[in-house]
Amino acid sequence: MGVIQDTLEIVRKRNPGEPEFFQAVTEVLESIEPVIERHKKYRDARILERIVEPERVVIFRVPWQDDKGQFQINRGFRIQMNSAIGPYKGGLRFHPTVCLSILKFLAFEQVFKNSLTTLPMGGAKGGSDFDPKGKSDNEVMRFCQSFMTELFRHVGPDTDVPAGDIGVGGREIGYLFGQYKRLANEFTGVLTGKGLNWGGSLIRPEATGYGCVYFAIEMSKTRGETLEGKVCTVSGSGNAAQYTVEKLIQVGAKVVTMSDSDGFVYDKDGINEEKLAWIMDLKNVRRGRIREYAEKFGVKYFPGKRPWGIECDCAFPCATQNEISGEDAKTLLDNGCTLVAEAANMPSEPEAIQQFLAKRILFGPAKAANAGGVATSGLEMAQNSMRLPWTREEVDARLRHIMTTIHKNAFDTAAEYGKPGNLVVGANIAGFVKVADAMLDQGLV
Ligand code: NDP
Repeated sequence: MGVIQDTLEIVRKRNPGEPEFFQAVTEVLESIEPVIERHKKYRDARILERIVEPERVVIFRVPWQDDKGQFQINRGFRIQMNSAIGPYKGGLRFHPTVCLSILKFLAFEQVFKNSLTTLPMGGAKGGSDFDPKGKSDNEVMRFCQSFMTELFRHVGPDTDVPAGDIGVGGREIGYLFGQYKRLANEFTGVLTGKGLNWGGSLIRPEATGYGCVYFAIEMSKTRGETLEGKVCTVSGSGNAAQYTVEKLIQVGAKVVTMSDSDGFVYDKDGINEEKLAWIMDLKNVRRGRIREYAEKFGVKYFPGKRPWGIECDCAFPCATQNEISGEDAKTLLDNGCTLVAEAANMPSEPEAIQQFLAKRILFGPAKAANAGGVATSGLEMAQNSMRLPWTREEVDARLRHIMTTIHKNAFDTAAEYGKPGNLVVGANIAGFVKVADAMLDQGLV
């Protein structure tokens, strides 16, 4: 359709050298074609051209001093993509690959994801090419303090509320919050993922993984299935992966792989609660490598490989973008995989998504399947505003309800637009319509 291709051409020309951003925009725009065709109001108001342009991009220098006293310089970013339905909200990523393209793709996805959660949150993303791996706690603290010294003037509890992502966990959020508090002289809910005794929400650490499994359960129900007894492959061993595995174990599935950027482990007997606790200590406290699991439990380690060659019923990518290629997807399908739920952001390449959809397996796209993380961040913001914490059971019940609602919304929207069962189309259209209508209501902004 003209307007979609015209907009993609503008994006391509205006954002040279940003392949991930272009990939994310292409996926969304092409799948919302039916809604653009049906509603002239979006074409007249040039909503597509507006929605692909960030409201604001901040890029800044982050100087800090390492333990040897040497000066180090990193680059910091915040992409404030869209605030039509609420204050900007989205994680911070610290990883050497961080660049404008990756953060813009993540911020763009975040806009539609946040819209799907039913909570009032706009979309943003930020971070730095700083690598926390191998750094001492003091180095991480000095970096975070310097990062927040600039970021603090662009964020606030009613303006922009960052959270964690790759390389930003509880430790980093603590240092960032401490510095914000000093600079702003206020104790407010400016970040989510905070410690429990200083404003954090119960279930926030678990939320992305738990939410992804809740979403997979909802998908399975549409085929009269459950996850019980299903063999599952999981990639990653960070926050999203750990709690995906925890919930999968709780619902009776058998998880046989986890990974990190160096390789994966294959435990054919299944990772049980005890072994998972060992992994959590390895990753969150000792900050070691997944290879050590293979040494400890006598299982096979595959250096430099991803786990998609292992036979499974269900696959849960929980590491990073573009980690399932078209070839990996073919292998998964040939091996009988019938469900893929994305806990990571954009983990499947376009060729992989095409194959999953063509084979009509249950495919849960990231912006729906992993929305539990940001949804629970939204619940943390609500508790901070009320100055009242909810119990674990209460937050978990709300998370479960939100994931069920997101699934139903995406499922029903896909059917409404003539693509039954296609949750990519369903999630993209449902997420888009709410934001686009808010933009129309607010005039030319
Ligand atoms: P963590 O930093 O806690 O863990 C990331 C994991 O992925 C680690 O095991 C890491 O291995 C691995 N990984 C990172 N980069 C690569 C790479 N290039 N190739 C292979 N493996 C890699 O991050 P999270 O678990 O928070 O994030 C994982 C994914 O989930 C991301 O896509 C993130 O955007 C998404 N997500 C996270 C949310 C959250 O609440 N945390 C919310 C929604 C989505 P290593 O240690 O070797 O780098």
